[in-house]
Amino acid sequence: MSVIVAKAPKTKTKSSTTLKVAYNPKYTIAEYGFDTTRKAKWIANELQNGAVPNSAIVDPASFIDRAKELIREIHSQDYVQALITGSPSILATSQGFSWDKGIWEMAVNSTAGIIAATELALHEGAAGSLSSGLHHAHRDSGAGFCTINGLAVAATHAKTLVDGRIAILDFDAHCGGGTHSLVKDDRQILHLDLSTNGFDSYEPAGENCLEIGNYSDDAYLEEVDEMLNRIPSDTGLLIYNAGMDPAPMISGETLQIREQRVAMWAAERQIPTVFVLAGGYTWSMSQEELVELHLNTIEAFNQSLLVSNR
Ligand SMILES: [Zn+2]
Repeated sequence: MSVIVAKAPKTKTKSSTTLKVAYNPKYTIAEYGFDTTRKAKWIANELQNGAVPNSAIVDPASFIDRAKELIREIHSQDYVQALITGSPSILATSQGFSWDKGIWEMAVNSTAGIIAATELALHEGAAGSLSSGLHHAHRDSGAGFCTINGLAVAATHAKTLVDGRIAILDFDAHCGGGTHSLVKDDRQILHLDLSTNGFDSYEPAGENCLEIGNYSDDAYLEEVDEMLNRIPSDTGLLIYNAGMDPAPMISGETLQIREQRVAMWAAERQIPTVFVLAGGYTWSMSQEELVELHLNTIEAFNQSLLVSNR
């Protein structure tokens, strides 16, 4: 796909009920085998087998140049060079993966996917990318399985396209300290973070919000609603980090309800939403269970497109 939009119109024309999901095989080209470097392919395979009717995979390769440009804007030159060359090793492996040339290709293609999905969401109401491993990445290094901060990339790209606020909603189990460090000084960007684990916590600046707790399922959904209510009505783009690692502490059924609430909340307010995968690991569930949880996100946004096109 190669659609590039100018500033999003105030009244959006929603003409598609097919949910576009960005992915290509280079998302999983890194040699290092781990959930974060492999699950995009598992989910893409299910989508290609028809797991979510009215969804379509789009190749974001036409956004690779823009991805490289934004990666160099968000991250330091030394860190980018380390990802490209493998040296120094301490930087090239700072997210916790061993390095090979595929690490950079993975990073560039999955970042291109987030940019493509952002453009699509602004046109069509919602879209996603099967990218993961984003929110712990800081300017000068990776961290916690996160290589490039695609959430900050999406927000930076969106600043050229939308008026109004850009809200990042992070429902991964862990705190998004990397993202916060990159966006906290930008008044146009609001960072809302609901966590069930204190890893990568931070002191939220301004209107940004971080909640951390050992929630019951009911209390968790109440927090979800509170976070949604913090999103301003003039939000021009919602960037949703749809982590599934609150499971198994939070049940899969509750996470499915969470996805439906986020997607419907945004659709009812006509707030364009771009989602990415974020955490979710096979050390606490089977691969099939993990894929099913992530497919729930895609299913929920697919349903939300149908509603917003009524
Ligand atoms: Zn996480």
